[in-house]
Amino acid sequence: MKLPETASNMAHLNANAFGAAARAALEDQPLRSALAKATDTFADRRGRVLDEMPAWEELRTHGNAIKAEALSRLDHHLAHFVREAEARGTKVHFARNRAEACQVVEGLADRLGARTIVKSKSMVTEEIGLNAALEARGLEPVETDLGEWIVQLAGETPSHIIVPAIHKSKDEIARLFQEKLGTDGDLDAEELTAVARKILRGTYLEAELGISGVNFAIAETGSFLVLENEGNARLSTSLPRVHLAVMGLEKLLPRWQDLETFLRLLPRSGTGQHLTSYQSIFTGPKQSPEDEGPDEVHVLILDNGRSAVLEDDVARETLACIRCGACLNVCPVYRQVGGHAYGSVYPGPIGAIVTPQLVGTESAVPLPSASSLCGACRDVCPVKIDIPRILLHLRGKVVERMPTRAPLERLGFRMWSLAARSPRAWRIATRVGRPLARLAASPSGVGRLARRLVPPLQGWTHGRALPRAAKVSFRERYARREA
Ligand code: SF4
Repeated sequence: MKLPETASNMAHLNANAFGAAARAALEDQPLRSALAKATDTFADRRGRVLDEMPAWEELRTHGNAIKAEALSRLDHHLAHFVREAEARGTKVHFARNRAEACQVVEGLADRLGARTIVKSKSMVTEEIGLNAALEARGLEPVETDLGEWIVQLAGETPSHIIVPAIHKSKDEIARLFQEKLGTDGDLDAEELTAVARKILRGTYLEAELGISGVNFAIAETGSFLVLENEGNARLSTSLPRVHLAVMGLEKLLPRWQDLETFLRLLPRSGTGQHLTSYQSIFTGPKQSPEDEGPDEVHVLILDNGRSAVLEDDVARETLACIRCGACLNVCPVYRQVGGHAYGSVYPGPIGAIVTPQLVGTESAVPLPSASSLCGACRDVCPVKIDIPRILLHLRGKVVERMPTRAPLERLGFRMWSLAARSPRAWRIATRVGRPLARLAASPSGVGRLARRLVPPLQGWTHGRALPRAAKVSFRERYARREA
């Protein structure tokens, strides 16, 4: 099955403002404290559970191989999944882009006469801006994951793939509840959770439609799996009469036996758990009135740029991501600026490679450069995605597609290339350049002025010291030694 060409699209996109947003985030001390605390906690938990897993590397390699195989024959697996799912009564829909996806959901809600819709956590519905689309039609989508619910209450977007409200401290959440729900402003975490639970319990019973994401879909039987820790996904998908699951087309696994590997990789990497608390598997609607579960089960398979990613030999492995969030927790950039600075539904290292590919590099120019290329993301990734390699690949695309953005950089490299090809030119360039570089690096007023005025130096020296050029170059020292 060949899916048609896509028109990529993503909600809440403001990725080109990364620089300004990151600088603002760096000034936000409460945000940085909340981030440091949460990311350290998750990274520590992950470290502890991995200490008990001597065969972790083999498991990662195996996960990588399964995903590579699944992606290499995705058309075949998709066709298989659709056949099997439909044979068991699941209705399958395809959407090429965000607009088509929202139309499918709106059409379903209209047919059901739905007003309240409960949702369990799903990044892909964030990607298509589903809540805004439903609200525009007068419907009431209600997030039921606690973090997502908090973020929805605050009128914000998630800032982490698995911990949507990671940017908020407990005290901020207590103040939010006080402002929006009229509770006391000094509730502790348990009391805040009880408030949310009480409100949400009533909402499940009112809802006509429940929407979930999908962690993994199994082609063999047309089944899909939803993982969660709060029980909210189970209530969202079983109490309403109709369940709609929205998934990116990359979520497919060929066989049931593949699942075992990912059920071990994902919770350990994401939350440092041995197993996720609730693992719900769906294979069609209920078969008889006495059975439990929804009358109708629908799966919406979204492309939204993924087919184009599949065709890129270097970047294809981006689609192997299982959205564990581990790369965010160790990323020195994410840990300082948080998720909102990325101006994209997908933040952190995985966002820096997913977003430009789904929306086009011109709409996310700074993201491939929002990395120190330290490689921590690659080292923790449970499916061994080589994120730094893809970042470099995307940086190349940014320069290719937007050559006018870096004329000074290109001029600099051209001059460097001319000098590097001739020993004489190199000698002259270093003789002339060394005192200038030393002056620019000096703490003197002239040095400060030079750093402020010369555009390439401005960016480099904004948050770091310019290294001082040596008084005597290596070539001169070598020549003296020879003499
Ligand atoms: S890229 Fe790897 S570490 Fe990051 S979210 Fe995806 S699977 Fe997890």
